[in-house]
Amino acid sequence: MTFRVLLTEPIDRVGFELLAPAAEAIVAPEPKLPVLLSLAPRADAFIVRAGPCPRELIYAAPNLKVIGKHGVGVDNIDIPAASERGIPVFSTPGTNAEAVVEMALAMMLSLARRLRPAQQVVEGNNYVRGRANYLAVEMQGKTLGLIGLGRIGSLLAQKCAAAFAMRVVAYDPYVKQAPSVPGTEIQLVSSLDELLARADFISIHVPLTPETRGIIGRAQLAKMKRTAYLVNTARGAVVEEEALAEALREGVIAGAGIDVFAQEPTPAEHPLFGLDNVILSPHVGGQTAEAMQKMARAVVEGVLAALHGQRPANVLNPDIYRAG
Ligand code: NAD
Repeated sequence: MTFRVLLTEPIDRVGFELLAPAAEAIVAPEPKLPVLLSLAPRADAFIVRAGPCPRELIYAAPNLKVIGKHGVGVDNIDIPAASERGIPVFSTPGTNAEAVVEMALAMMLSLARRLRPAQQVVEGNNYVRGRANYLAVEMQGKTLGLIGLGRIGSLLAQKCAAAFAMRVVAYDPYVKQAPSVPGTEIQLVSSLDELLARADFISIHVPLTPETRGIIGRAQLAKMKRTAYLVNTARGAVVEEEALAEALREGVIAGAGIDVFAQEPTPAEHPLFGLDNVILSPHVGGQTAEAMQKMARAVVEGVLAALHGQRPANVLNPDIYRAG
């Protein structure tokens, strides 16, 4: 029997090759709900990237047996709706952790070394004056503040300690003991305010949940050092974008690196556009060749396992297995 797997977006070739012997891949031409709804009735499985997977879609697929998330953030999947139907939802944690960590590091270095204004100096034929006015800061020995100390946060701590001898403070109320990292001792703080006041570079690595939505707003930005940088590669809605843009314009903080937005794709006008002290990217933190292969392989393996009656790894609604 050939199964049909609906993919919200294409995945790496390795995934299609693994899928081919057992299932037909149906790639949505656009990751939009009406398109997905028209294809869902034929699907035995969904592979979801950034496209939407709401209740309506889950109920539009009578043969649906599993939903696999290509990546980690599952805020675009209605897990309770899947549970109601007894459908397992799994993710592929860790497969893009290195990629996101390197993106966060790239943003921090780029902000500290003021690469965007430096390029503008050269291209704007302002070499001599621009060079005289250029002053960067170093990451060496500074304090890294992590909001969320899971897979990505812990790996970033490790890299920053090893490469730049950074001190690391972390805020994560769900972690009782910080992982041990060579070269530094991660200090868990019990209040976000303490982290905001102490860190020189703050990097966000929490899932989007009702609790983390808007966790960084005007009041929190005001508690950061004026010389500090904020990097968000987690989910856009974790930061209040209007408040961040205002803080950047008014020098409340030194700069920001943003890979994720409250609305994706971003609208034509956005408060964070056109600012010198900002680095923006279109939700590509996890998108390296290596991570794309690892995610594709893991999500297809999980989908095939479920289609063949086995339990995939990293199921997010394990209660469905107890119910029956
Ligand atoms: P993870 O589950 O390993 O870690 C998340 C951590 O956040 C956990 O330790 C958890 O306890 C903590 N947390 C939850 N609520 C919190 C709160 N209110 N305050 C502080 N900490 C809290 O996940 P991960 O693999 O480290 O990924 C983190 C997030 O990064 C994902 O949920 C996803 O949204 C995002 N992500 C983005 C990209 C990208 O392309 N930009 C790629 C991968 C992941």
